[in-house]
Amino acid sequence: MTARVADKTAVVIGGASGIGWASAELLAKEGATVVIADIDADKAGDRAHELGGRARSRRVDVSDEESVRALFEDTANEVGSVDITLNCAGVNLPGLITELDAGSWQRTIDLCLTGAFLVMKHSARTMATGAAITSIASLNARQPAAGFAGYCAAKAGLTMLTQVAALELGARGIRVNAISPGLVETPLVQGLTSHPAIQTEFTDNTPLGRNGLPADIAEAVLYLSSDSASWVTGEILDINGGAHLRRYPDLMRHLADASDQPSH
Ligand code: NAD
Repeated sequence: MTARVADKTAVVIGGASGIGWASAELLAKEGATVVIADIDADKAGDRAHELGGRARSRRVDVSDEESVRALFEDTANEVGSVDITLNCAGVNLPGLITELDAGSWQRTIDLCLTGAFLVMKHSARTMATGAAITSIASLNARQPAAGFAGYCAAKAGLTMLTQVAALELGARGIRVNAISPGLVETPLVQGLTSHPAIQTEFTDNTPLGRNGLPADIAEAVLYLSSDSASWVTGEILDINGGAHLRRYPDLMRHLADASDQPSH
């Protein structure tokens, strides 16, 4: 069988960990030259080394426009043009609205929404017909969660941004899509998966009855990035074991219950 993204160059932002790393591994296995771009330059370098071959690494901070611009311009100068962009950078600084400081709200919006805008902007400038941009949104783009105001608002905004970008870039043959994962076992959500009551509620609210693995999302990234999806744009793909059919766990209640327990 032929490699599904042979001869393509893929920039994976947030590629040093979790969903980004699993996607980078799969894209490389399927023939792409992968640039691991991450704010953690050392880890990105280690990951590129692990991939071997033509893989390379680069430090980028999606909250800094100059850094994003330079990533895409330099990569395009080195390799011709960027065919695949995957944006996995994100953060969730939680807190109830009445308690949440504006700085935490802003940081979440900066990384999850404005960062995605900057990535689309500078990525698309370097792309040619046949290219694909994919962002990682979230189940929280459609399911509200108390305590996640900034994250829910940013991810919902990202899904609309994705659709606007698909409209604007369609005429140039550039496809723009997003994936909305449910709970996926990565360092980002260790605080949730290690909390037994929270984990149980996530499982109970997932028809397929398990957490996602980074590889579950990587398969969708590969599809959307490849020519198999050449007529797919403006799509928000829910990959969550069916969790969008039920309700989001009441995380704040569990955390309040935990803090009410007497300490020993
Ligand atoms: P992760 O923490 O394992 O990986 C995130 C990567 O992004 C890290 O390597 C980190 O260094 C990098 N990063 C952070 N800030 C950055 C910045 N300013 N610029 C560039 N890189 C930066 O997390 P993950 O779980 O793989 O999450 C990836 C994406 O998936 C995020 O957007 C997250 O919101 C989204 N998501 C995750 C889950 C989940 O359950 N894990 C669910 C839904 C959505």
